Amino acid sequence: MEASEPDRPRGRILLIDDDPALGGYLSRVLRTRGGFEVVHEPDAAAGLRRIEAQSWDLLLTDIELPGMTGLELLERVHALVPDLPVAVLTGHASVDYAVTALRSAAAEFLEKPISAELLVAKATELVEAGRAARAAGRETVLAIGAHPDDVEIGAAGTLAAHQAAGDRVAILTMSRGSRGGDQRMRARESEEAAGVIGAQLFLDDLDDTRIPEGDPTISGIDRVITEVQPTVVYTHSVHDVHQDHRNVHRAAMVACRRVGRVFCFQSPSATVDFRPTHFVPIDEYVERKLKAIDVFGSQTGVRDYLDPGLISSTARYWSRYCAGRYAEPFEAIRDRTGGPLGRPRQVAADPPLAFVPGQR
Ligand SMILES: [Zn+2]
Repeated sequence: MEASEPDRPRGRILLIDDDPALGGYLSRVLRTRGGFEVVHEPDAAAGLRRIEAQSWDLLLTDIELPGMTGLELLERVHALVPDLPVAVLTGHASVDYAVTALRSAAAEFLEKPISAELLVAKATELVEAGRAARAAGRETVLAIGAHPDDVEIGAAGTLAAHQAAGDRVAILTMSRGSRGGDQRMRARESEEAAGVIGAQLFLDDLDDTRIPEGDPTISGIDRVITEVQPTVVYTHSVHDVHQDHRNVHRAAMVACRRVGRVFCFQSPSATVDFRPTHFVPIDEYVERKLKAIDVFGSQTGVRDYLDPGLISSTARYWSRYCAGRYAEPFEAIRDRTGGPLGRPRQVAADPPLAFVPGQR
């Protein structure tokens, strides 16, 4: 029996090699000596299907494969998963005709025959570097709402897009909404909706309809900011007829003063002064948004603004300012990019538009 790590594997490696003997040997070394989880595929097409379907920490591939050149494979891998580390096994790294071309694809080269020690050391180095790069590229997102369902209506699609991009997402809801139905049921619904988005939920307990703009609202938000350390915050707009929404906005502006990127979402109670300049396409996340909102079952029967037709047609309308068919609009309070606290991300497909809705 092979010695195995007591903990979870140190990383998942996909090995593509058409030589069954060599592939079997490399897999064994990486498993037993490296503690990695290894899947061995004999050809590039099968490997690409694996890359499409699952997540990996390292691709280790032979340079010559049936049906596809090494360069072709790397181009396709790069298009699928740009940040996946790749190591290429080659017979003669210094003279191989393809090495020059492949070097530009940012791959690491391992010359055959390779010792078990060097293989494990290289694999460990590449897996760790890849993980560190991915972690550095991640955002930590905090969405702050006054009541259960506020954040879902305003930004569920954007939060789902963040989650899909590998970002950590948290939701802070300041009150349990006692005026809007049974408190315990709404807390359960909030948990469930956060689950649909893949977000962690923080549920405060301020007085519904009496949320102040000072303390304890500011200190409540402060506590969660300290714990979550967000790089981007989404919260209410001040352009809103609901006093709780305005006060949460004002408290959040104080508590989030050190967060580099702060955006305000649209609530059903927004006024005509709500003027978004930041639009996030949510085509792939509309269904998830509707599902998250549908969770608030105790409300959907009594609140017209939770109507799925209204939610999706609102998103459809805002897409006129960006790419795609559905979008969520945001007022940008601060979009500091390049600093340690924030940077531009593909979640926002388009730069803010100079055109301001309402001015023609
Ligand atoms: Zn609300």
